[in-house]
Amino acid sequence: MPPETLSVQPFDVHNQLLVGNVHPPDWANPEPAGRYNLVVLGAGTAGLVSAAGAAGLGARVALVERELMGGDCLNVGCVPSKALIAAARVAATIRNAREYGVEAPSGTRVDFAAVMERMRRLRASLSPTDSAARFRGLGVDVFLGSGLFTGPDTVEVAGKRLRFRRAVIATGARASTLPIPGLADAGYLTNETVFSLTELPRRLAVIGAGPIGCELAQAFARFGSEVTVLEIAPQILPLEDRDAAGVVERSLIRDGIRFVVECKIHGVQKQNGDRVLQIESRGQRSEVRADAILVGGGRTPNVEGLNLEAAGVTYDAKQGVHVNDRLQTSNSKIYAAGDICSRYKFTHLSDAHARIVIQNALFFGRAKASALILPWCTYTDPEIAHVGLYEHEAQKQGIAIDTIRQELAHVDRAVLDGEISGFVKVHLANGTDKILGATIVAAHAGDLISEITLAMTGKLGAGTLAKTIHPYPTQAEAIKKVGDAYNRTRLTPFVKWLFQKWLSWMR
Ligand SMILES: Cc1cc2nc3c(=O)[nH]c(=O)nc-3n(C[C@H](O)[C@H](O)[C@H](O)COP(=O)(O)OP(=O)(O)OC[C@H]3O[C@@H](n4cnc5c(N)ncnc54)[C@H](O)[C@@H]3O)c2cc1C
Repeated sequence: MPPETLSVQPFDVHNQLLVGNVHPPDWANPEPAGRYNLVVLGAGTAGLVSAAGAAGLGARVALVERELMGGDCLNVGCVPSKALIAAARVAATIRNAREYGVEAPSGTRVDFAAVMERMRRLRASLSPTDSAARFRGLGVDVFLGSGLFTGPDTVEVAGKRLRFRRAVIATGARASTLPIPGLADAGYLTNETVFSLTELPRRLAVIGAGPIGCELAQAFARFGSEVTVLEIAPQILPLEDRDAAGVVERSLIRDGIRFVVECKIHGVQKQNGDRVLQIESRGQRSEVRADAILVGGGRTPNVEGLNLEAAGVTYDAKQGVHVNDRLQTSNSKIYAAGDICSRYKFTHLSDAHARIVIQNALFFGRAKASALILPWCTYTDPEIAHVGLYEHEAQKQGIAIDTIRQELAHVDRAVLDGEISGFVKVHLANGTDKILGATIVAAHAGDLISEITLAMTGKLGAGTLAKTIHPYPTQAEAIKKVGDAYNRTRLTPFVKWLFQKWLSWMR
């Protein structure tokens, strides 16, 4: 059986394979080597990438994990959620098949147990990459158990003492507990338990319309749950571009989701098996009855139990471990990476942090977290992806921008695919083609944003987007069209007049 804290149920053949890889029940911790170049606390993405990278470069590395290697992403985050989203997309495609002239059997039913089994099977199939055995094969000493600092250069795990030259804290984050009266007694799901469901809740209340809440709300609605999403802010995906969030909201409403924004939850009670949420929105009190409640918002860094005081590492419960721009903590030998120290919590950022830590901790590097150009994506349908500055941030910072917007409805491939809801919005430094930021809302926004991210990373302007040949027909042509639109802005009346003169002279 897995340790009690691990939330991978049911313990079927797939979860046994998963646990066998990422927390083998019969694992024997090695004897600690003399002094490690790097001790890594936590084997989520940040920890795994730090450990593998450092060991690959010849460092002596210890990796400590108390639950499941792979962390949130593999076990209770990106991987299971995207498996569910893929199944939900198939259900939605079949329901919309008639729009494409395809006869589909009416009353398409989702076999939720089979969807979840597929997710467990695929998750297990990805788990060898993050496995204890693979990391041992890479030359990393893998210790399973809770790690804690016993001094400024020592860690203890399962009764063994690890000495280090450098350490990295990569202990991640967990779902925040919400101070809603009665919620704990009524019982609720988080990302740590929702992927263990085997039966579909008929009515699901989702608290929080952030990325996790919206992604799972849409998936469960498409599986057939009656979903109500309760959000305290006035818009869903409150951190995103307002127009883009609006496109996603309309799509989720078409999937049958009911949103209550500006929503305060006064309390929750259990009544005859129902979970009843007392809510208030815009002065109106009402109740929402649900079979299950999913808390979708808020992440709390895992700082407890690490004995950070003994190591001289400063932290707080909200922000997590305090780091400087080089990801160094208040103890110069100890670094932090990933969700434990970052406002933005993404797998690809944990990966990027780990690379910075390897350079700075082991090789006197000067890499800075603030230099990263970080895209992100919420995998609703349509997806919403962003990189760089938002319009409202530019306004707040007094940065003058020119915004170019390209509707997906004017991109041939999007029309042919029946995926016209959405747009590409690119913000340029005023009067230049320098890209400062972009938001894309589109069926494949997560893929499309990489072209803009590349342009920003490589300091390529909108003019280069126009020059880049895109295969026809692709949805990425939307980005080329942004470049073309920028070029048209350079055709001022004076330039046009000059061209006309030249051409008439050439006749
Ligand atoms: C539902 C959901 C969907 C998501 N989808 C996406 C997505 O699509 N794309 C994306 O980029 N991001 C996504 N994320 C976010 C992503 O999962 C996290 O940003 C990422 O996993 C953070 O990696 P990390 O290594 O910093 O921390 P974690 O993955 O949390 O790993 C930390 C590890 O440290 C271990 N640990 C903690 N304390 C100790 C200790 N004292 N001793 C030893 N080990 C310890 C934990 O057990 C854990 O395994 C999603 C998150 C959720 C919840």
